[in-house]
Amino acid sequence: MAEPLRLNPYVAELPPYNAGMNIAVARSRTGLTDIAALASNENPYGCSPKVAAALAGLDPSRYADPACVMLREALSEKLRVDGNRIVIGNGSEEMIAAVCRAVLRPFATVATMAPGFGLHEIEPRANGAKIVRIPMTNDLRFDLEAMRKVLQDKPSIFFISSPSNPVGPALEQDQLSNLIAAVPKETLLVFDEAYFEFCDENMPDGLKLLAESAISYVVLRTFSKAYGLAGLRVGYAVASDARLAQAMSSAKTPFNVNAAAQLAAVAALEDEEWMRDSVAKVVRERGRMAGAITSLGLLVPESRTNFLFIDMSCDSTIAFDHFLSHGIIVKPWKEPGFTSFIRVTVGLPAQNDRFLDALRLLKEKLLEADAPL
Ligand SMILES: *Cc1c(COP(=O)(O)O)cnc(C)c1O
Repeated sequence: MAEPLRLNPYVAELPPYNAGMNIAVARSRTGLTDIAALASNENPYGCSPKVAAALAGLDPSRYADPACVMLREALSEKLRVDGNRIVIGNGSEEMIAAVCRAVLRPFATVATMAPGFGLHEIEPRANGAKIVRIPMTNDLRFDLEAMRKVLQDKPSIFFISSPSNPVGPALEQDQLSNLIAAVPKETLLVFDEAYFEFCDENMPDGLKLLAESAISYVVLRTFSKAYGLAGLRVGYAVASDARLAQAMSSAKTPFNVNAAAQLAAVAALEDEEWMRDSVAKVVRERGRMAGAITSLGLLVPESRTNFLFIDMSCDSTIAFDHFLSHGIIVKPWKEPGFTSFIRVTVGLPAQNDRFLDALRLLKEKLLEADAPL
């Protein structure tokens, strides 16, 4: 018999990415047609009508522009950043992979947050890195002191999402300044702003603060969430300098962003009013949901995103099954220490009502199960 094929252990031993359940799968599992998909932080209002108009001009027979010139020019103007510092990805998740390939050598150390975004750990591990997790405080706030301590050991990369996925808060101006001051010159700060657009006023301008600093950084943003283009896969990285952007560009496949995604993203940027309108509606609903959940006696950290992280005080898979039986997909959290949490995306008002009704039922069920005999 032939020797079993030797796989790259860094890749073969990776944990799976905990993706939200697909709507078609939920329909077939439950037999329900009306599914509220509240697991993947998509925009419940869809996307700008200008996107559909732009896609009507798509020619599928032509290769897309590998340099994404039109999109990079639009972003360069919007962000006032030199276009040669911008790299477009097949989703910002591809830029997480690209930055790891561009920077990491085997046995490097990468710092991430706990709880945190799965790919901030999976991609470094695929490149042979060792992970150091930085916990949040017991009441789920950013712990700047804990960050400072880990950064003293000069990890190759520090990945942090702000606003935080899955918890919700964003670093305030003074916290971000303190973080920047703690980043050593040997460390690349990857500042993942997938939910940037959902932060209201009083938010520090991360790009501006970082640009004023001397550290190496990559800011990640995406069209998947606020702009409603999750299915097309397009996001981007803004690097602190063109040399780093060039290395990230070399680390990706040349035609990584398809023609539909490029057209759609340019059109979405031309209709930011649509994006801001839908974000305002989501932010209003976020407040209403958080209020209703808190009044049920459940813990919800402050969120500056389009989702809420809720401690159900029961196994998250029990909660997931309960919501699914009501036609609602939520995300059961699987990270050690947080397996009683679910993450729920803010949906349309009627979907949110449905979630709140099912949540009340689950609470009653759990109380009954706990009641002394
Ligand atoms: C959703 C998300 C991403 C990835 O989004 P893409 O769809 O790949 O652009 C990256 N980081 C965080 C924290 C996210 O929540």
